Amino acid sequence: MTGAELGLFDLTGRTALVTGGNGGIGLGMAKGLAAAGAKVMISGRNEAKNASALAALGPRAAAVAADVTVPAEVEAMVQATLDRFGGLDILVINAGINIRKAAHEASFEEWRAVLAANLDSAFLTAKAAYPALKASGRGKVIATGSMTTLFGAPFAPAYSASKGGIVQLVRSLAAAWAPDNIQCNAILPGWIDTDLTRAARAQVPGLNERVLARTPAGRWGAPEDFAGIAIFLASSASDFITGAAIPVDGGYSSTI
Ligand code: NDP
Repeated sequence: MTGAELGLFDLTGRTALVTGGNGGIGLGMAKGLAAAGAKVMISGRNEAKNASALAALGPRAAAVAADVTVPAEVEAMVQATLDRFGGLDILVINAGINIRKAAHEASFEEWRAVLAANLDSAFLTAKAAYPALKASGRGKVIATGSMTTLFGAPFAPAYSASKGGIVQLVRSLAAAWAPDNIQCNAILPGWIDTDLTRAARAQVPGLNERVLARTPAGRWGAPEDFAGIAIFLASSASDFITGAAIPVDGGYSSTI
């Protein structure tokens, strides 16, 4: 590969904001973006997690505490990024939760909590970031969907609905913001070893064995598996890719 081609992935001079960047998949993406040269702002509600994640991100990173379900906190999170780094080029919409209950067991409040954390937050974050992404002239949005974007989840209907919604939101943003040279894409993780799924593994007997048997790669994904896709979708290497939903799943979605 020539030097010019490698430069396609260079994020020097660009700023990223990663929601849910203080752990798991978000931190995996934040590490990739930082390694490619970006200045990175991570956000999460838990300040202790924010601080320990920063230690892994190096000197060009910062953190802001925010609850992405609260419009004023989302606006303050974006403003803190602009105040700290002077602009915003890459928005990673990744914060999310799950409540594992079938529809007949879940309350309306539990349904609303998942939709608020996973989908309302994506709308709020994208909307708050839009003026800065437009001003960048080379904006990128990366949103985290799921295998439940593609498949129904009997154990998590609100989660599945929210992750289906993420991709339709991303496609809508991609079309609306293409004239501003903002590319918007989704990633669809398979089963990844994080706090979110560690709780599920403890709750669901046999889940570990089922994931290993069902995933062609024969392993759980790791947060580090998201560094490369984040760099690609944040960089000039993906300038003609928008509205896509890319599985990062060890082959899970490609077979029955
Ligand atoms: P984690 O639980 O490690 O990460 C979730 C992140 O979201 C944390 O950083 C958390 O920070 C943040 N977060 C949650 N709610 C809020 C909120 N209201 N306001 C601000 N931040 C919030 O799990 P993952 O890394 O696994 O999850 C990251 C994303 O990946 C989620 O969208 C999840 O749905 C998705 N995903 C995960 C899969 C997996 O197998 N692990 C598979 C498919 C998708 P804090 O607690 O500090 O607020």
